[in-house]
Amino acid sequence: MRKVLFRIDDAGLENDRFNQLAEMFISFQIPFAAGLIPIKEFPMIDNHQLVSFFQHGHRHVNRSLEAKKSEFPENIKLDQCLQEILEGWSLMEKTGLPLWKAFCPPWNRMREDLQLRLQQDYFLLGGKEMKRTKRSLPYDIDLHSKSFKPSLEEVLFALENEHAISVIMLHHTFMEQSDFNNLEELLRSLKNGNFYFINAKNDL
Ligand SMILES: [Zn+2]
Repeated sequence: MRKVLFRIDDAGLENDRFNQLAEMFISFQIPFAAGLIPIKEFPMIDNHQLVSFFQHGHRHVNRSLEAKKSEFPENIKLDQCLQEILEGWSLMEKTGLPLWKAFCPPWNRMREDLQLRLQQDYFLLGGKEMKRTKRSLPYDIDLHSKSFKPSLEEVLFALENEHAISVIMLHHTFMEQSDFNNLEELLRSLKNGNFYFINAKNDL
């Protein structure tokens, strides 16, 4: 049975749309992991069983001096980055939400020294270039990038891989009504297939 982890980034932004997405997963009884931006307003979720909130940066602001966006670029001292991330996790712990000790940097951009330190405490999530280990997972499919929206067939094809766990990444902030409709079709199709859906806080 193939294992799938759904990862939704940017919880805390446009929470109405986030909740619409969460309700869809809950209606299918499919668990998902959601990246929470610690300083933002937390979404209200009714069915906690299926949700695993992980940490998505601290403030989700770009501080890079280069073209590629990053919240924790080289120009910010490592200790300061770690301090901010620690503060972010403390904020999350106060929410009472079901947490999964995992971290995903905004824009999937993680410098090496920070990664080395964070991997001591956190499960790490990242971009396609991230190394696949027992404690770190890149995404396999980006469902709602601005430039590419894969069809149902393309998603199912991408899941035919050798990976122990396939990660499907979603961004509710990019989703239009047609994307919600397509996702519903995808979830129905996966639910009828031979898939195990990862409940991250219990399974990883
Ligand atoms: Zn983000």
